[in-house]
Amino acid sequence: MASEKKLRPAPWVTRDSEFFWSAAKEDRFVAQACSDCGELRSPPRPMCPQCHSVASEARALSGRGTVYSWVIPRYPPIPGFEGTYIVAVIDLEEGIRFVSNLCGIEYEAVTPDMPVEVFFEDTEGGYRIPLFRPRAASSGA
Ligand SMILES: [Zn+2]
Repeated sequence: MASEKKLRPAPWVTRDSEFFWSAAKEDRFVAQACSDCGELRSPPRPMCPQCHSVASEARALSGRGTVYSWVIPRYPPIPGFEGTYIVAVIDLEEGIRFVSNLCGIEYEAVTPDMPVEVFFEDTEGGYRIPLFRPRAASSGA
């Protein structure tokens, strides 16, 4: 009860993902977009699979999506993750998929296509990580 909440480990920041983690520090949820054809790609990678351009930029996302699939990992235990947690694949409104944790809900209560929204939580190293939680189906903005 009185135990202090342990922070998650700092993210593994690469040259391709640095823009993502910088935005997350400011609670902005972004994806990599091709500067030439506009294609969104998640996770970030050096080259556009559509037009082979290496130019890219960060594009702001709504942070809203629906649950595509979900699972509770049982083994092996990961440092910084206490107890059980849900790993979910989220279909974002913008048409890309994002793997994250689904919080604030019991595993048994999760349903396919459930509306979810992003929120951010501190990690070690001063970063913020985007996580997802249920949202009311009617909530627009
Ligand atoms: Zn492209």
